[in-house]
Amino acid sequence: MNNVERLIDDVRERFGPKVALTDRADIEPWLTDWRGRFHGEAAAILAPASTDEVAEIVGLAAAHRVPLVPQGGNTSMVAGATPPADGSAVILSLRRMNRIRSIDRLASVAIAEAGVILSNLHDAVEEQGVRFPLTLGARGSCTIGGLTATNAGGTQVLRFGTMRSLVAGVEAVLPDGSIHDGLSALKKDNRGYNLDQLLVGSEGTLGIITAVALRLVVAVTSRAVAWAGVQSPEQALELLRFLEARTRAVEGFELVAGDSLALVFRHIPGTRLPLESEQPWHVLIEATTADADTDIAAEIQALLAQALEQGFLTDAVIAASESQAEAFWRIRDSISEAERAEGQTLAHDISVPVGRMPSFILEAKNEVERRFPGTIASGFGHLGDGNIHFHVRAGSRTVADWYASEGTEITRFVDDLVTAAGGSISAEHGIGQMKIDELERLAPPGRIHALQAIKQALDPLGLMNPGKLVPLKR
Ligand SMILES: Cc1cc2nc3c(=O)[nH]c(=O)nc-3n(C[C@H](O)[C@H](O)[C@H](O)COP(=O)(O)OP(=O)(O)OC[C@H]3O[C@@H](n4cnc5c(N)ncnc54)[C@H](O)[C@@H]3O)c2cc1C
Repeated sequence: MNNVERLIDDVRERFGPKVALTDRADIEPWLTDWRGRFHGEAAAILAPASTDEVAEIVGLAAAHRVPLVPQGGNTSMVAGATPPADGSAVILSLRRMNRIRSIDRLASVAIAEAGVILSNLHDAVEEQGVRFPLTLGARGSCTIGGLTATNAGGTQVLRFGTMRSLVAGVEAVLPDGSIHDGLSALKKDNRGYNLDQLLVGSEGTLGIITAVALRLVVAVTSRAVAWAGVQSPEQALELLRFLEARTRAVEGFELVAGDSLALVFRHIPGTRLPLESEQPWHVLIEATTADADTDIAAEIQALLAQALEQGFLTDAVIAASESQAEAFWRIRDSISEAERAEGQTLAHDISVPVGRMPSFILEAKNEVERRFPGTIASGFGHLGDGNIHFHVRAGSRTVADWYASEGTEITRFVDDLVTAAGGSISAEHGIGQMKIDELERLAPPGRIHALQAIKQALDPLGLMNPGKLVPLKR
């Protein structure tokens, strides 16, 4: 019997078969990352239902020296929740811990267990007349634990920030089996290092998040969702500044390239261009109000008319109904899926200083397509945050095993451009296993040293999601 088998036996003996799944059919769907690029191996999925069960499992794993790969919805864009290929680790799924423990409207805080699916949280708090404002395309399957562990961003960061701004406290099982309880969500607490924030963005490498206290905001009474055509990313940024100077209602502002749209219309049934005219670039704008007396659609419509007159856009339409608004968002949210259907695509979730973003998008596209003829590069996403998804499709390149061969070279090329522009090779998706080599190649030595030192201090046995985020000491 090897160590993994001993751990599985112990967990099964302690908690029963429900907590240690070993049927191949149960495990198989969780061994591959969302993009289908990394395939791992694991003899079991351990699925505790409470914080105490997690703590006992962490203790048993330490005793048997078996690494744990925490997993929520497995929607990581950087293969962060995919186990190593050698079968040395087991998956620790938090999906059974899916209780919303409390929603406190007066304190504006909800406490949700790690396995709560984001859209379920949205619905539950909405029923209480409040709102959790972070949202993203994977909301139907990603979990609060995963969102916290990756410091996820999404489409409303412009106004509300990333998970880091919305996490008021974390409950987690640390690698030594102790439980850190930060759920009291104190606004003021100066007892030294902020453990809760250290766990935000730690990608499962410092402990298992079991529950999170989340900040809520007032519910919106109505929203206006508009689609506008612009001539360039620069004009899109000008449009954002034009709107921000006149209203505080804008909370989503997404840039979409014309050629990304063409892919969506080709591969995603039921989608079509909201505008009557073809445009090279598009923006999806969402504005909200919590004031029942404000006609937000009329306000945005008037502002867009002014913007058209003053040359900040070339065409625009406001969704006439909630279902049309959803249809607009579906177009935006389907870009990655459409690219996947089209063929091989390299994804780069990057950020550069906001003011440099418009020129970066165009220059990086030109440089990539010139250096690798036949590829198609495009940038889309959260322009106002200085964060875009800069994707490169294989196009007409017919190199065998494109991802592993030329793909690596293209990614290095893009990451060098990002670094030269003073940016980050991971704006919101994290590092996982996909970006770990690039982090090691490009991050300043001080950053790598700090990551390794913190990891070593909290997880000296290296059992928390090894091979992700923290480059090995050499
Ligand atoms: C269609 C689509 C759109 C997306 N859009 C965005 C976007 O706009 N912005 C954005 O930021 N991200 C986006 N993402 C990726 C996003 O990071 C994930 O959706 C989400 O943050 C991960 O949640 P998850 O529950 O699936 O976590 P998983 O994928 O299961 O895990 C992600 C990481 O967190 C760790 N982890 C998971 N649960 C825990 C836990 N309880 N304790 C400790 N560590 C844990 C894992 O080990 C892994 O390292 C998108 C993904 C998809 C598929």
